[in-house]
Amino acid sequence: MTTISGIAASRGFAAGPAFVHRPNDVGPVPEYEIPPGQVFSEIARYHAARAETRAQIEALVEQLRDGDPQSADLLANHISILEDTSTTASVERLVRERRINAEAAVRRTGDKFRAMFGRMRDPYLRERVRDVDDVERRILRVLLGRDENPFSQITEPVVVVAAELSPSETVSIPRDLVLGFALDGGSATSHAALLARSMGIPAVVGLMDVSARVKPGADVLLDGTNGTVTLNPDVKTCADFARLVRRERELMALLNEDRARPGATRDGANVRFCANAQPGVPMGGLAAFGAQGVGLYRSEYLWFTRDGEPSEDEQAEDYSQAVRSAAAMGDGARVVFRALDIGGDKLPRRQVEREPNPFLGNRSIRWLLSHRDTLRRQVRAFLRASGVGPSSILWPMISTVEELREVNAELERAKAELAAEGVPFDPGLPVGCMIEIPSAALCADSLAREVDFFSIGTNDLVQYTLAADRGNARVAYLYQPTHPAVLRLVDSAVQAADRAGIPVAVCGETASDPVLGALWVGMGVSELSMTAGSIPVLRKVMRSLSMDELRAMADEARRLCAFSSAAEIYAACRAFIVAKVPQLEEIQTFFT
Ligand code: PEP
Ligand code: MG
Repeated sequence: MTTISGIAASRGFAAGPAFVHRPNDVGPVPEYEIPPGQVFSEIARYHAARAETRAQIEALVEQLRDGDPQSADLLANHISILEDTSTTASVERLVRERRINAEAAVRRTGDKFRAMFGRMRDPYLRERVRDVDDVERRILRVLLGRDENPFSQITEPVVVVAAELSPSETVSIPRDLVLGFALDGGSATSHAALLARSMGIPAVVGLMDVSARVKPGADVLLDGTNGTVTLNPDVKTCADFARLVRRERELMALLNEDRARPGATRDGANVRFCANAQPGVPMGGLAAFGAQGVGLYRSEYLWFTRDGEPSEDEQAEDYSQAVRSAAAMGDGARVVFRALDIGGDKLPRRQVEREPNPFLGNRSIRWLLSHRDTLRRQVRAFLRASGVGPSSILWPMISTVEELREVNAELERAKAELAAEGVPFDPGLPVGCMIEIPSAALCADSLAREVDFFSIGTNDLVQYTLAADRGNARVAYLYQPTHPAVLRLVDSAVQAADRAGIPVAVCGETASDPVLGALWVGMGVSELSMTAGSIPVLRKVMRSLSMDELRAMADEARRLCAFSSAAEIYAACRAFIVAKVPQLEEIQTFFT
């Protein structure tokens, strides 16, 4: 028996025989010089292979559309990668100028993008290189005449063990027969991890050499909650594992027992639980967690998967698709489209100029206001999507009321244009602003006059309040969401919204913490938008408390602000909740 530790990528437990997937690479890619007279036909061969690849992906998308819309969305994104004009231009240039064969030009272009993605700071973005790899492999297989589906041999429930799984490999696996994934490589934000989470399949990644150590058919116990994989377990280990699985089922039943009951708190007050989402990550699985809409759609991710700005049509298509996917979350489920929030730690390929202090620089709404054409195209695309189903627009990084007036004026201009062109859109679509800068929280009265709702972005609000970079481990100890200053800023925004009669959401990561989510609701927030997997725990906590109790907890936190530390305030709120939900600690070990 051997137990290997890795990264817990998708929680849950799986026990079954191993299906070992050996790397399905295209093998060596030949590179040779072509005579000048062959340049034209070589470029034509590349385009024919691209068309064939596109047809393959489209067929797969079509096949998945009904039963598995999230994977269909994911693969549809591969079509935009395939059609990316800078990739095509690079392949053509290499064939024409270096006079090399199409396969080699595709590989060299892929290498260039891999190097570019590898330099990105955001781990999510670094992982997007897998999509590029995947599309490249497909096109190379067509050019080289090598094609096969290795998963057609799976005929019984198995734990899939592999070095890595590309996105399209992941979606080609027969779902009903996969109990779990154990991968040598990958991270918590790799596609395989995201997909496993969205499909509710347990997964452990970053297991180093598990695929070399396991024999096909060997017994595997996979613990996606704690990030371990046990090969050839003994009888006692199997019995312990079975106990864990039973306990997880019992707790899951507890989380779901009153799921259908109307209202969110014990006394039926209304709090909406929404999911955070982004282009390129399938939305089909969000409804299963009980998401009632998308409270934050991070549109900038559409910029990260290509070399230039997506066209208005491409944007409108992506946003409309998001609205269609949200329909599965129930009546009135809306998508809150956040305008392009680039800069800071989110640097897409070429658009943003390097600055000495990017978090305080020309980022987000500031960048958009200095790139009006981009702003106009995005606003038109948002409006076009609003004609498809319920949606809202959210302005990020607002620090002054002038910014808000200016972007709202652009929105009105875009509405007039579309109306004149006869393009359908929702003329009354709600417009909100993010409260993620202290100036916005403190001057929220003036902002509230310009918008229909607030959404508090605690990720940035905390970093700007404590002057502690949200991504810097060395100052992580200062990243304190319950610091009295943060609580007072949240209070300031909520009270201003209350005076103006507009609702407030929280869409930062703190919304997925049951203690903080409950605290925000007690302070007057009516929507929490978070990683979808956190919704069941939040829902359970909220259902165990009445609105009066939540308010009393928030009042106590306010009182503590006068003389307590962030940690003391958090501990006091946690104790308050544990008194109502004694299983919280155990639930969190299983479900967070
Ligand atoms: C936030 O700042 O809390 C937020 C939700 O936005 P992002 O994490 O995308 O900056
Ligand atoms: Mg932010």
